[in-house]
Amino acid sequence: MEKGDLYEFLKIDTTSAKGKGEEGAKFLVDYMTDHGIEARLIRHKAVNPYVVGELNVGAERTLLVYNHYDVQPVEPLDKWNTDPFNPTEKEGKIYARGVADDKGSLIARLQSIFELKKEGKLKVNLKFIYEGVEEIGSPNIEDFLEDYKDQLRSDYVLWEGAGRGPDNSPEIVLGVKGLLYVEVRDKTPKDLHSMYAPIVRNPAWELVNFLNSLRSDGKVNLKGFYDRVRWLTEEEARLMKGVKQEMESSLSQSVPENFMRKLVEEPTCNIAGLYAGYIGEGSKTVIPSYAFAKIDFRLVPDQDPEEVLKSLLSVIPQQFEVKVWGKVKPYRTSLKSEIASALISSARRTYNVDPSVLPNSPGTGPMEAFARILNNNQIADGVGVDNSSSNIHSFNEWIHVEDYLLAQRWMRELLLELGNMP
Ligand SMILES: [Zn+2]
Repeated sequence: MEKGDLYEFLKIDTTSAKGKGEEGAKFLVDYMTDHGIEARLIRHKAVNPYVVGELNVGAERTLLVYNHYDVQPVEPLDKWNTDPFNPTEKEGKIYARGVADDKGSLIARLQSIFELKKEGKLKVNLKFIYEGVEEIGSPNIEDFLEDYKDQLRSDYVLWEGAGRGPDNSPEIVLGVKGLLYVEVRDKTPKDLHSMYAPIVRNPAWELVNFLNSLRSDGKVNLKGFYDRVRWLTEEEARLMKGVKQEMESSLSQSVPENFMRKLVEEPTCNIAGLYAGYIGEGSKTVIPSYAFAKIDFRLVPDQDPEEVLKSLLSVIPQQFEVKVWGKVKPYRTSLKSEIASALISSARRTYNVDPSVLPNSPGTGPMEAFARILNNNQIADGVGVDNSSSNIHSFNEWIHVEDYLLAQRWMRELLLELGNMP
């Protein structure tokens, strides 16, 4: 179908970090309305409005399509070979800000829906939620879901659009990791001459000793930390495809043989930032009065950030100050679910290869909030236009024209598949 509509959409600057997006939201409402989908703007607590829509064909089941219309800032502009808001097609590729993340998938999916609707072949009801603040961390998404849960109720949720993985096969992602982000600080009243070391506290040592106690041999030492981990089944592990060389070149360092499994399955305790004492030029013999660290835990299903925090607090030295910056629960849809099997078979039919299926992404997102608030346990990602070198969030963002067409085809096959569920 026409790429012209996509290009119109890509021309609109929807950089949420700069407060832009309203025009993009209005474009979507008009675009959907013009094709017979009920759609409207909802101004909620976020900077940019949500777009919600519905297409009821009287089917038994309903698919909720989630995408976001906002994009990341384009800076540094001089690194772009083309104007980021003037989509440019060159040698089978389309360059523009947002073409891969997430406007391309959004429009490709809609166009398939329009087509099937016209042909009278749509056998699954559709609902839509388009967010305009995803790129600034989806603030208030839980409040929004709470306030509009009746309108968003559905049997399945299709997440924003995983495209092709590193080996070029289509990627399906059935969940996300969770997160616990904590800051710890240790203080004494003032910096002291280091000759006092035998008789006074040193916050730097206290912090380092504490951090060191958190892990040994790559395993996290917190009590009960692994109790709830839902380890992968052999089948789940087999369906993931990763390319070691590709991973090593993108990280600029070597990775273990079983890197995919570790990425998906292992919860982590990471030191994200660490500061203490004198870090200027030359030497200063001082006992610093202050030390702090930022620590993030990536959690896997079914770990609970609340429980991990409790366990962490029980070992944090009394004198430390603690600040919790974030808590997100992990989430995973079953490989045996209808949405997973429909995504897998529709991907196979579209691309003529087995897809790569990740039980959860190594990254984090608000899937669990969707599952909990909308009472839905079939949430999965796929049907995207991007590939692993699409320069998402960076300059010269691009996709293959062919992948745009294939995503439309995949959406079509998925909808037909869901319409045929017994
Ligand atoms: Zn993004």
